[in-house]
Amino acid sequence: MDRAYDVIIIGGGPAGLTAGLYTSRARLSTLLLEKGIVGGQIANAELVENYPGFPEGIGGFELGQLLQQQATKHGLETLFAEARGIEFQGVDKAVKTAQGDFIAKAIIIAGGSEYRRLGVPGEEELIGRGVSFCATCDAALFKGQVVAVVGGGDTALTDALFLSKFASRVIVIHRREELRASKILREKAFADPKMEFIWDTVVEEIQGQGHIRRLKLRQVKNGERSSLEVAAVFVCVGLKPNTAYLEGILRLDDIGHIITNELMETDRPGVFAAGDIRHNSARQAVTAAGDGATAALSAGKFLKEQG
Ligand code: NAP
Repeated sequence: MDRAYDVIIIGGGPAGLTAGLYTSRARLSTLLLEKGIVGGQIANAELVENYPGFPEGIGGFELGQLLQQQATKHGLETLFAEARGIEFQGVDKAVKTAQGDFIAKAIIIAGGSEYRRLGVPGEEELIGRGVSFCATCDAALFKGQVVAVVGGGDTALTDALFLSKFASRVIVIHRREELRASKILREKAFADPKMEFIWDTVVEEIQGQGHIRRLKLRQVKNGERSSLEVAAVFVCVGLKPNTAYLEGILRLDDIGHIITNELMETDRPGVFAAGDIRHNSARQAVTAAGDGATAALSAGKFLKEQG
């Protein structure tokens, strides 16, 4: 495998794969680094109904595979390795991985985000033992049982609706009394007879020995504490950007998203960012793909200017 490329893309979700499609078609030698599976967050979605071009919807995993096949057909190389740092050597940038350094003049960072945790006692210990971050992956394990979902956004309701196909009851626990999720999802959730809501409430502890048994809850308005027996809890409290290795290297916002302009340029020449990892991203697969295309065009322009 080569060590030097025109462009290195970090992250193989819709943003990175679209960037790779564009740079490869522009005949720029491109390496894409992916630490998990291609498709990013979307690969976990059972059905994606809002990606244009698929009137019946498409499975998230399949969408990721198709995006990769399309980019690979045009010359994109993919390596399954985690980017651990970027070192600047004049105009060259070295991306550090466990498999050695890879060099390029232009880098597109499209590493997306990972699940945010509640940070309460019991959560870490019981992951895979009733604590889950992915309903599509684990819902079928809890057929006929009572499950809880924590969060009030689109993911919480998408996951809750999916869970209701399997579970006997789905209890959504939200820290406010108003859901953040889109209206269409709220309508579907409120119409689902298996769905229940506990408002203004947070999870303080997840209890169980070997497997989850119950959640300890606190009503935030009156401080009242209670217990809820569940077979599983799905934590859907948002995402945090995968930028720990970029601190001090690129300009980030308070949460860690990369700050870019509308051309996807960061504050370092030749370094671009695309998709969910970017400050103010719309966090949709289709907008991530759009960011990826823009970043690739900007990278091409940058390389041309370098000669
Ligand atoms: P999100 O929109 O950031 O929502 C996170 C939810 O978790 C919020 O309701 C938040 O409460 C709650 N929360 C955050 N920290 C918490 C804590 N420590 N304890 C309890 N609750 C906490 O994240 P998301 O739902 O994962 O969505 C991410 C993006 O993906 C969004 O842009 C969304 O539109 C998109 N998405 C779209 C679809 C789709 O069908 N099109 C599906 C999934 C996701 P507050 O509301 O009080 O802040």
